[in-house]
Amino acid sequence: MTPDRLDRFARHIVLPELGGAGQARLVQAHVVLVGVGGIGNPALQYLAGAGIGRLTLIDDDDVDLSNLQRQTLFAPDDIGHPKVEVAARWAARFDPALTIVAHRVRLDAGSAAQLLAGADVVLDGTDAFATRLAVADACVALGVPLTSAALGRFQGQVGNFAGHLPDQACYRCFVGDAFDATDCDTCADQGVLGAMVGMVGAFAAMQALRVVTAGVSTLGDPQWGRLHVIDGLTPGLRTMRIPKDPECRTCHA
Ligand SMILES: [Zn+2]
Repeated sequence: MTPDRLDRFARHIVLPELGGAGQARLVQAHVVLVGVGGIGNPALQYLAGAGIGRLTLIDDDDVDLSNLQRQTLFAPDDIGHPKVEVAARWAARFDPALTIVAHRVRLDAGSAAQLLAGADVVLDGTDAFATRLAVADACVALGVPLTSAALGRFQGQVGNFAGHLPDQACYRCFVGDAFDATDCDTCADQGVLGAMVGMVGAFAAMQALRVVTAGVSTLGDPQWGRLHVIDGLTPGLRTMRIPKDPECRTCHA
């Protein structure tokens, strides 16, 4: 790293839990972000801030006025423009050294493998169950770890999954098969407090950074199959272990 880059990441490098080796790994990493909405906005900001070298953004949505309550990358003159394009412009200005690739598409089971291949970790912050399961299934098939993040109202859920490993659960082990066909409740139906998406998106970025730095730092404990449930009302955090489902159609051997 150049002196400029060392300066930029000095507060990371000085952390014994991350260090120069951890930062070097972040700079080499490729993270795919599925969904550039409520969770994706803060996740992108902290992943870019961490110096993740290559970021791929996938989203088919345009910025809407009602997004501005929680999606802090967007401003009124972005309304009507594709979220991936606005987000990619932000990232390019924030750190020109990063490689940003934007796909304005809705990921589905047919396109997932091609879009996610080559990622070191996929961070899924979409709100449609069919999309979330398509992402999760493709991750298992590709052998790519998944940071899955979701929220509604005042509760968030964030977990790292490595269903391609023999003893680790995948996301489908957690949610089952019931949600493939229909979209689940969305923020439009349920409502969501803006600051909650900041908490959950930043937490998801943190969990993705653990995956990326596994093996080169003590921060890098991926905590596979542990689902962190964030309650914004109380507030509080509890963690549950998701066991591998021996009958899971996605990840059973
Ligand atoms: Zn599974």
